[in-house]
Amino acid sequence: MNFGTKAVHAGVTPDPTTGAIMTPIYQTSTYVQSSPGVHKGFAYARSQNPTRSALQESIAALENGKHGLCFGSGLAAIDAVIKLLSPGDEVIAGDDLYGGTYRIFTKVFAKYGIKFNFIPMGDVSNIEKHITPHTKLIWIETPTNPMMNIIDIEGAAAIAKKHGVLLGVDNTFATPYLQNPLDLGVDLVMHSATKYLAGHSDVVMGALVVNDDKLASDLAFIQNACGAICGPQDSFLVLRGIKTLHLRMQRHCENGEKVAKYLANHPKIGNVYWPGFEYHPNHAIAKAQMRGYGGMVSFVFKEDDQQQSFSVMERLKLFVLAESLGGVESLANHPASMTHGSIPREERMKVGLLDSLIRLSVGVEDIDDLIKDLEQAIG
Ligand code: PLP
Repeated sequence: MNFGTKAVHAGVTPDPTTGAIMTPIYQTSTYVQSSPGVHKGFAYARSQNPTRSALQESIAALENGKHGLCFGSGLAAIDAVIKLLSPGDEVIAGDDLYGGTYRIFTKVFAKYGIKFNFIPMGDVSNIEKHITPHTKLIWIETPTNPMMNIIDIEGAAAIAKKHGVLLGVDNTFATPYLQNPLDLGVDLVMHSATKYLAGHSDVVMGALVVNDDKLASDLAFIQNACGAICGPQDSFLVLRGIKTLHLRMQRHCENGEKVAKYLANHPKIGNVYWPGFEYHPNHAIAKAQMRGYGGMVSFVFKEDDQQQSFSVMERLKLFVLAESLGGVESLANHPASMTHGSIPREERMKVGLLDSLIRLSVGVEDIDDLIKDLEQAIG
C-alpha cells in the first residue's frame, strides 16, 4: 500500500458488530471474562484498548514498522524509552533538542544515575568519538527543534550498529510522510503525536514504533507497568487526524517553502533555518533522507534584538503566538522563553538559539494571507 492509502486505511477495519466505518471509541476500563484469564484479547484498558490498538497499528504502518505503542504525551513516550536503561548507562543525544526532552533527561533521569552527553551531530562521526562501553542509547531529532539542523540517520545507524547501541529518532518534525527512520536502520522511532499526526491542535499524545519483537515487548511492559497510556477518545482523534496526514503535509511543505523564501529575501531578516535551502549545511542529507522539507521555519533578525522579535510576534494576526506546532493553523513561537526556556541560556547560545529567534509552524491556510500577515508584522 502507498502512503496515502495507508493513512486512510491502516489499522482501521469496519466495526464487526455494527459495520461502523470509523473505529468506535471504546470508552471502557475493563472487559468481561468468561472464566479467569479467558477473554477476547482485552483484559484491562491500561494494558489494551481496541481504539488505541487501531491507532498503534496505523502509526506502525505509516513508519513501515512492526509494532506501535501510544502514550499520554510525546514526553511519556520518551520516558518509556529511557526506562529501558539502568543506572550507570550513558546516552548520547543531539545538542539541539526540544526543551522538554532536554529537561526530562537532565532534571529527571540524570538523578537516577543515567548520564547524558549532548553533542553536535551535524557530522555524525562525532557520535563515535563519544561512545564508551557504557553507552546504551543514541537520541536524535532531525530536523531539530528549533534550529532545523539535519542529522544523517543512515550514518548514525551504521555507528550505532557497529557498537551495539540502540538508536532512537524523534521524527515529530518530519512525520512518516517525509521520512522513515526505521528504513534507514534505526531501532526506534518516536513522535509527539500532538503535532502533525493529530494535526488539529486538540490532543496531547506520544508514539513509539519499533521492528524488534523483544524491544517491543520491553516497551509494552513499561507502558503497562508505568501506565502512561493515552485514552480512547484521544486515540480516536489521532486516528482521524492521520487520515489526512498526506494532504496536510503536502500543503505544509508548499507553504513552508514559500514562507522560508519570503523571509530569506526580506531585508530585515538575518538567518533563515529551513533544510530546503541549498546553502543549509546538511541540505544534501535532507534531500537524500526526506521527501520534502516540512512546514517548520525558524529565523532571526539582522540584529539579535529580542524586543524587535516580541513586537513582530505581537503584531502577527494569522500566525498566533503559542507553544506547539504541526496543526492546520499557523503558529509563531519564541523558543528562548517558551518551548526551550528550560535549557540554560549558555547552552542555547552554543547552538545559535538566539534570544531573537522566532520559530514558525506554517499551517495550511492560503499562502497569500500568510505572507500578507508576515509583511504587515515585520514591516
Ligand atoms: N519532541 C519534539 C520534537 C517536540 O516538539 C515535542 C513537543 O513540543 C516533544 C517531543 C514532546 O511532546 P509532547 O508535548 O507531546 O509531550
